[in-house]
Amino acid sequence: MDIERYRSRLASRPDVTEVRVRIAPSPTGNLHLGTARTALYNYLYARRTKGKFVLRLEDTDSERSDERFTKDIIEGLHWLGLRWDEGPDIGGPHPPYRQMEKIDHYEQVADKLLSSGYAYLCYATPEELAALKEEQRLQGKPPRYDNRGRHLTIEDRERYEAEGRLPSFRFRIEEPQDVKWHDLIKGEITVNSRELGGDMVIIKSNGVATYNFAVVVDDIDMQMTDVIRGEDHIHNTAKQLLVFEALGHKPPHYGHVALIFDVQGHKLSKREHGETVHIDYYKAQGYMPEAIVNYLAKTSWSPPDEKLEIFTLAEAAEIFDLKRVSHSPAKFDIDRLNWYNAHYIRSLPLNVVTERALPYLTDFNLAELDGRLELAVDSVRERLIKLCEIKAALRFYFGKTVEIPEDVCKSVLSSDEAKKVLQETLNALSRMPFGDPKGVKQVVDDMGKEIGVKGKNLYWPLRVALSGSTQGPDLGSMISIIGQARVKERLSAALHGAGCAS
Ligand code: GLU
Repeated sequence: MDIERYRSRLASRPDVTEVRVRIAPSPTGNLHLGTARTALYNYLYARRTKGKFVLRLEDTDSERSDERFTKDIIEGLHWLGLRWDEGPDIGGPHPPYRQMEKIDHYEQVADKLLSSGYAYLCYATPEELAALKEEQRLQGKPPRYDNRGRHLTIEDRERYEAEGRLPSFRFRIEEPQDVKWHDLIKGEITVNSRELGGDMVIIKSNGVATYNFAVVVDDIDMQMTDVIRGEDHIHNTAKQLLVFEALGHKPPHYGHVALIFDVQGHKLSKREHGETVHIDYYKAQGYMPEAIVNYLAKTSWSPPDEKLEIFTLAEAAEIFDLKRVSHSPAKFDIDRLNWYNAHYIRSLPLNVVTERALPYLTDFNLAELDGRLELAVDSVRERLIKLCEIKAALRFYFGKTVEIPEDVCKSVLSSDEAKKVLQETLNALSRMPFGDPKGVKQVVDDMGKEIGVKGKNLYWPLRVALSGSTQGPDLGSMISIIGQARVKERLSAALHGAGCAS
């Protein structure tokens, strides 16, 4: 059958009345770029289909889970602009939304599997399992459980119980069998059960459910219709489908998104890339959430209009479609993200950018700008890639004097012509309309004409005297923002050789 027709038939899915999708992070680390992208695709899909987007915390790995990671994940998702309809922080009709709060429930469901024969108790100790693994390693075989618990006699069990061993629950994975599904993104997928590592633990000996079990119970309880997640979960999906079958429940539809790799082709991982895999890192550097959302949306999805590069979260939610999510690995290209970020820094509303710049400006006395901070931000934002750069870009606006590097001082300020420019500008200060950068610049240009100096020779001495550098924002803006009194001080200082490093 033609794959497109198959997919469009699937898209009309009569079994799904309201799409319900979720992001289900494990709070074992800060919010990862990959998790953020998965959350984004689920969010967009829910919004596009007028369905529900749920946040669920998969915190059954009690050794690695930590409340500070939960906080980081929730804050990070919020910061990106994602909102959920149900979740641990806001509740909803299918609570609880933290797995550790329903531990007993998983055990009750596992008990059912025990009674129906789909699961059994396994008394193997961690030492025995480690020995098995080692033996397999020496034989060059991949590690797998040898299903030994299937064959225990009543006497074996009594003996182990008497020894005080605590059993785990294992789910039977019959082999060989093909587990197949039509993936919403990758098309037909088949996994043979031989690849699944033997009968799997569903309840650990400490009574806590494992991920592959709790996820199925929750996807049933929360009535998930679709599961969109990274393709590193393909083998998990095969295991989960077997559990759905054993529990007599129809599984959700699955869609697996290709993972994100770096430009050299390595998977983005904390081990390889450190903090740069976390949303936090980008937040601290002054990336705009709009840029990250736009960039991450585009890593594996292409809008119907392929030329469309810039779009908001709300715009993407109008056109997002799983059919246009790519099968091939995504590449994390920092240059591309920087391109988006620079775009958003220069085009978001000025008050928003200024507000976001404040944390980088705590070393400065903002009162010195006398209400002209927005103008100052506006004068430099064209040149910024990350908002953290704004501290260096705005530094010269603060303080009485500026430091001028000696070589710049010599090459730009020492000529008679430069001194004349400085003096004439001082004379023209009273004529400058300070609130109007264009008007100020006009006064400078007119003065230049009068004394027969233009271009670099006119502008550089002023730039250097005011900011210490020949580069920087528009001269009219600079003068307006620094304000008459301080412009006067800086020009006079430069005229008399002060301010130059000696
Ligand atoms: N807790 C899993 C993870 O963080 C969720 C996978 C899933 O979406 O089922 O990878």
